[in-house]
Amino acid sequence: MSDAPSIVYLNGEFLPIEEARVPVLDRGFIFGDGIYEVVPVYGGMPFRWEQHHARLVRSLGRIRIDDPLDPEGWRTLVHTLVARHPWPDQFVYLQVTRGVARRDHAFPQGVRPTVFGMSSPLPPVPLALLEHGVAAITLADERWLHCDIKSTSLLGNVLARQAAVDAGAVECVMFRDGFLTEGSSSNLWVVRGGWLLAPPPDRLILQGIRYGLLESLAQGEGIPFEQRPVGRAEVEGADELLLSSATREVLPITRLDGRPVGAGVPGPVFRRLHAAYQRAKAGNRAGHAAR
Ligand code: PMP
Repeated sequence: MSDAPSIVYLNGEFLPIEEARVPVLDRGFIFGDGIYEVVPVYGGMPFRWEQHHARLVRSLGRIRIDDPLDPEGWRTLVHTLVARHPWPDQFVYLQVTRGVARRDHAFPQGVRPTVFGMSSPLPPVPLALLEHGVAAITLADERWLHCDIKSTSLLGNVLARQAAVDAGAVECVMFRDGFLTEGSSSNLWVVRGGWLLAPPPDRLILQGIRYGLLESLAQGEGIPFEQRPVGRAEVEGADELLLSSATREVLPITRLDGRPVGAGVPGPVFRRLHAAYQRAKAGNRAGHAAR
């Protein structure tokens, strides 16, 4: 089923992915001048759509692109993309760039943004990762100072991820000025003495949609949660280290720079949050089915 033909959205049209074309002068291609979103879909229903939409609108505002669609337009686009594919679980990718214009750094006038959307099958998180956890490496966070914008300019994140892959790991744990920021494409969580800690959602990290979700799941589970700067020693001495993202949900990091994190196996806080996450997904499906 995963090789069902992919129908994408480009500037008002739905068409096979092979036929979708963007001019080379698109500012997304030339400058990485755009933003994006990744929305997981379970049982055909987008998960936390309102939050993803709000972040999309926020990202557009931060880079001063006028929102090309109204909320209903975005909702319809996502639902149409999902309905065009047979996979029960998908992830929708949405991208808006500043449009096509003669190459010049300053914003062009009167140019229509390029709007692109596609959906892909969302495979279940492999059981082995849940049972054994994943390896990560520490890295200096050398990205810019607007990491709260979900920008398509991802070179810093790309290089960081490749450094992790080169070291045989799946993610990096980045620090700026000695404090934890995030992974190359995930938010990070530290468990110490029963507390769940996360760096404050400032401009140094992307506030993941799972950032808010895990916070409320922790509350529901009675796990005390604190947003505060987390120093390197606290990360290295953590009882558990977790990552979260749209496609990887919540995963335990059990090895950091080749050393075990805590007991070196997925811990109790991970297990509770993972179970709560699965219940939230099931509730999303059931809630939509009941409408
Ligand atoms: N930080 C970065 C840099 C990311 O790329 C992602 C994944 N998009 C996240 C955090 C997690 O965000 P979300 O929970 O919305 O997937």
